[in-house]
Order: sequence, then C-alpha cells, then structure tokens
Amino acid sequence: MEETETTAAVADPDSLVSRVEDFFLHRLTTIHGFKLRRSQLDMAIAVAEHLTEGGPLAVEAGTGTGKSLAYLVPLMLRNSPEEAPAIVATKTVQLQDQLLKKDIPILQGLLSTPRKVVQAKGWSNYVCIRKVETPDEQALRELGPYLPELRRQLINSGGKLTRQEAVLARRHWERIKADPLDCQKRNCPHFSSCGLFAERRELETAEIIVTNHAFLLTDLRLQREGRGLLPKGDVLVVDEAHRLDDVATEHLAVRFDPDRVYSIISSPLLNGNDGWLAACRFTFLMALPEVDFLEWSGFFDQVVLLNLKNLENLCSDIFVELQMVSQGQPRLALRPLLFDSRGERLANLCSELCMGLEEASSGMQAMCRDYEEKFEASPPPELLRLSQSLAGFGYDLQFLLECDSSDWVYLVESDPTSLVARPVDNAEALRVELFETFHSCIVTSASLRVNDSFHFFKSRSGLTDGTSELVIDSPFKVAENTFLGFSTSGPNPGSPEYPAYLAPWLISLAANLGGRLFLLTTSHRRVQEFHALLSPELATYGIEVLAQGEEPAPQLLKRFSSAGRYVLIGVDTFWEGVDIPGERLSCVVMTRLPFPVPSDELFQARSELIENAGGNAFYDLSMPLVGLKLKQGFGRLLRTESDKGIFLLTDPRASTKSYGNKLLKNIPCAGAYRGPTEEVFQRALEWSYLNLDFCRTSPHEDGLTE
Ligand code: SF4
Repeated sequence: MEETETTAAVADPDSLVSRVEDFFLHRLTTIHGFKLRRSQLDMAIAVAEHLTEGGPLAVEAGTGTGKSLAYLVPLMLRNSPEEAPAIVATKTVQLQDQLLKKDIPILQGLLSTPRKVVQAKGWSNYVCIRKVETPDEQALRELGPYLPELRRQLINSGGKLTRQEAVLARRHWERIKADPLDCQKRNCPHFSSCGLFAERRELETAEIIVTNHAFLLTDLRLQREGRGLLPKGDVLVVDEAHRLDDVATEHLAVRFDPDRVYSIISSPLLNGNDGWLAACRFTFLMALPEVDFLEWSGFFDQVVLLNLKNLENLCSDIFVELQMVSQGQPRLALRPLLFDSRGERLANLCSELCMGLEEASSGMQAMCRDYEEKFEASPPPELLRLSQSLAGFGYDLQFLLECDSSDWVYLVESDPTSLVARPVDNAEALRVELFETFHSCIVTSASLRVNDSFHFFKSRSGLTDGTSELVIDSPFKVAENTFLGFSTSGPNPGSPEYPAYLAPWLISLAANLGGRLFLLTTSHRRVQEFHALLSPELATYGIEVLAQGEEPAPQLLKRFSSAGRYVLIGVDTFWEGVDIPGERLSCVVMTRLPFPVPSDELFQARSELIENAGGNAFYDLSMPLVGLKLKQGFGRLLRTESDKGIFLLTDPRASTKSYGNKLLKNIPCAGAYRGPTEEVFQRALEWSYLNLDFCRTSPHEDGLTE
C-alpha cells in the first residue's frame, strides 16, 4: 500500500488518492482528538482508488477502524460527475445519525466548498402539513392538545418536521404522517412548503445522499415499476453490509398485509366528507356540466366508493380467516395450506378478492376513459393512480395464490397477519439491479468474512468474484483487554434444564460486575426462563434484569446504558448493532451457538437450493450464518480502545465438536480458556478482579449508584 500510494502521489499530486492522503495528514490532524491511524488511511486510499477506477470493493474493517471517515473523505473530495450523487446506505439509524450529525459536519468544516449532503427517508418519516393545519374530525379529537405545539414545530423546522422530532405516540403520528395515497401533491395548498417534497427535490441536486438499506431496496423495487425515488448515482457505499441480504429479503418480498390494505383500500375511505375520496370525487365532478352531474356522481359512487367498501370487507374476512388457519403460529407454509381443506375458504376468499381488485381497477379505468372521451377533460390523476395500485395489488395477490415459483418461499405470517412471498436468493437482483448500476461500489462492515473468506458474503449479496477485497484489523488490543472463556461441560443448551444449570454462575458473575452483563440467547422462551431464574436473586444485589420484549429495544438499551445496575437478556436484535462503549457493558455471555431454526421455511428453501447445486447446507449455509453471528456478538464487547471485558461462550459444542473449532476461528480466541463451566466462570471472576477497576471498589463507589 505504501508503495502504491507514493507512486500515485508522485505521478499525479491532484489524484483523488493524493488528495485523500493529504486531507488525512494535514487537515484531519488539526481536529482536536483526531488520531491518525495507518489502517484508517489504508482503507481511505483503497476507497479512493476504487472511486477512480470503478468496480466493487468489499472492506471488512474491525471495530475502531473509523471506517465511516475512511469512505466519507474520498466521497467528499471526489470530483463527482454532474447530477450523479454518491449514495451511502446504512442499516441502523444510529449509524446514520453518526454520519449526519458528527462525521459529515466535521468534514464539511474542513472543506473550502462544502458538499451538498441530503438524507433520503421514507414517506412515513414526514409529517403531512395539510393534516396538521386542517385536521379531520378524528385527528382533531385525538390530537387537539398537541396541535399548537406541532404547528409551532412545523414553522421552526421549515415544514420538515420528522417523526423523531415530533415526539408523538405512534398512534398519533399515524394520523398526521405523510402518505403517498392520500397526498394531494401539486393540488395541495401546502405543496410548496411541504418538507417531504422539498427534500425529494433536494435529492435531485445532492452530491451525497445518506439513506438506509430499507429505502435503498424499496427504491430498487420501485425502479422496476418506473417509480424510483433516488436519482441515478455513480457511487454506492453500503455500510453495515452484512445485513443487506436480510433487508432485501424483507423489502423485496411480495405481500398481502394490513399496511398495504390500509394504504391502498382503507385510507381513501377515511374521514367521510373531509377525506381523500370526497376530495377526489369533488375534483372529478367539478368539470362536468350540471346536466351530467347526477348521473356521473352515481357512476363514481358505484365504481369507486362501493368497490372500495366491498374490497375492504373482503380483506377483513381474509385477515380473520388467516388468523383462524394459522392458529397463532408465527410462520406457516402457504402452499400446503391452500391445497388442504383447512385453507379452502381462504383460497376462495383470496380468489374473490383477486377478481374484485381486477374488476375495480378496470372499472375505474373504463370510467376515466369514458369521462375523457365525453367531456374532453382529464380525470383526477389520483384516481388513475388508485386504479393502478388496485391492479398491482391484484397481480401480487394472484402471484401469492399460485405459489408456483421455486425462487420464492410462500408463507402465512402472524406478525402482522399476512401472506408473504420472500425471495430465496437475492444475489441476482442485488447484482443486476443494484451493484451493476453504479460506477463503483464500496461495501463494508466489521463482519463480512467467515473463516477468513468473503465467499459467503459475496455469494449471498450478489458481488462477483471480481470484487476487490480488503481486510483492516481492529486497532484494539483484544487479547490484552479481553478474557475469553469457552465451556466444555454442561447439558445440551437446548435442554430444559440448561437455564437452571447456568443460573448460579451467571448470578455470581453479574453480582460481582454490578450488572453490566449482556446475556445472549437464541429464543424468546429462553429469555423468559433466564429472566425468571436471575431476577429474584440479582434484585438482592440491587441489579435489575431487563428482558427483550418487555420494552422496545432502544428503551431497554437506554436504560442499560444509564446509571444503575442492569443485566440485559436478549435474542437476535441484541446480537448486533448495539454500541455501548465503556464499562457499562463489561461482559457478554452467549449461551448457545446461534444456529438457524431448521424448520424455518426460508432456511429450508435456501438449504435446498444449495444442496441441489451440489453443496452442503450445513457447511455452506448454517456454519457461515453462525460464524457471522458469533463475530457480531463478540463485537458488542470492546467498543473503544480502552474498553475491557469478558466474553463467555457456554455452549459446550463450540469446544467439543469439530465444527465448533471451525466456528471459533471467527473470533480472536488466542489465549482463550477452555474448561468446565465452573472453572470458566471462576477464571472470569479472577480476571475481573485483576483487570476491571470497578470490581475492586465498593458497590457505592463503582459509579453505578443513581
Ligand atoms: S403535499 Fe402531500 S404530504 Fe405534503 S402537505 Fe400536502 S398532502 Fe401532505
């Protein structure tokens, strides 16, 4: 790297690589607290080279690398082709906030000409000014006391009030959020001051767009229908890229769910004479001669109003039926159900709805055609949009009912009650419709490789073999600052007696650490079992046990990070993306290797795909998934250079099975202690006395007393 960069700098001092290097060495170092790290500069130079040459680059950058600055600096310094912005997509809001509120403002302050950076968010993140200024009766009833403050906030924010800023309960926000279906667009009296459209216009001239994976993939789906939201970019940076495949599985899914029914069918019917439909009807009839008024208002009511009401009733019947047939199971394969007597009524209702959607859509289109021909006037565009949405919805429902493509997994899901088809493999869509549409792509995360190879990540996310690879090790002294312990004894972690077996040691460790412990399990049932076992005893030490599900995850994390003694028990969400620097989180205990649930339909379909292609589902799918999760879980512990902590994996399979040793290669386990559970915990306690300052202070001096 040293040689390349010197050569580039000598050959062309104006090259992006040279400018990036110069920026790090002479600008960033003027910032108080900035510490120049060779590894961060290496990553920035590699990114700069790729922005110049094009093509994809995958960077695994260990915690503490400072990868966001390493890609932001080249993005800010590049000469962007006209009207072709760079798009940066993250998975979490926390990282987006860090980019927009911390990193980018620092860099802008160091540039002679700041770059135009715009955030792209989905509709539901914006307030609809019209709904705040002229609320319907129901909104007035529910939101009355909040309206003056909301209006004041709207003025102060220049119409760009977002969901976070409004600080409203979810049900209140639902009443005033912007919605593409009831938006009056150019006909809205607030169009010129509407924050949503102002920001959408800003996207057109942005040089850097910051968004999330969900928006990026929703855009991909909408591009298929010619309704994309993002302008064509020339550079794509995907941070937290290890989650891209999961988000694609979610956002490229085809659905029949309450949100979609609400958005397409129910919301036009809301609010009677003040609602969307009444406004549309008024516009429709306004252009007519008086003599035709009565006849055409009857047409409108029959073709639009009545049809929507019938469709809404039919959808309600389907949701009731779905609840009946799924009997509370979170997921159920749809195909066997539809071809079984249990699903007969469901299939009939869905077929009826398909026909109803088709008839309603074609009826509206025919009415609009007649209207145009007879009155030489254009029908309201929102009516045409509604008919298209109904047709698209019918098409998707038909696709769900056919259940005949092996590229999809067809499911009945209970949260929310819905019919869903999820793509088995997103690689092709991501490659063709996302990565190949950019001149260069940078994908990065702290955990992309499994057993030192990018192969699994690349194959799942559609990156070709030609993708360049870069590994930047964490600058943290992991071996020095961590105690790693792996149990070799104990019952199977899936057995009923396992929580009771582990509880006494967990209690003694948590009591010694004053809480500060994350307990990662693999099922919600286990969360409850551990909670019941640990809570009473830890309460006697003044330690509260928090369990995932009892409050929203951000609130639980806020409490855990605040003053007070806490143990947090969690499943999936807490295995990754949690950033609690310092001693508040000093111990992570994983109770079980996080293997996928074998009965999960999506996992089964993916396994089948691998086996049919001659692979081995255990080694080519299960193991890499567990390896990545292990890496992520371990990554929760050390978040800053000075952090110290304990990482315990109590599942004996990790040490006693041959595949366990392979899996452990995904975490830096040189010097780890392996032994019976009691010894692992005993050594962890001893290590904590020697290495964690707060363990040597009295409970009242450990900084956790509120
Ligand atoms: S333009 Fe649409 S979203 Fe904006 S205020 Fe008007 S109706 Fe609401």
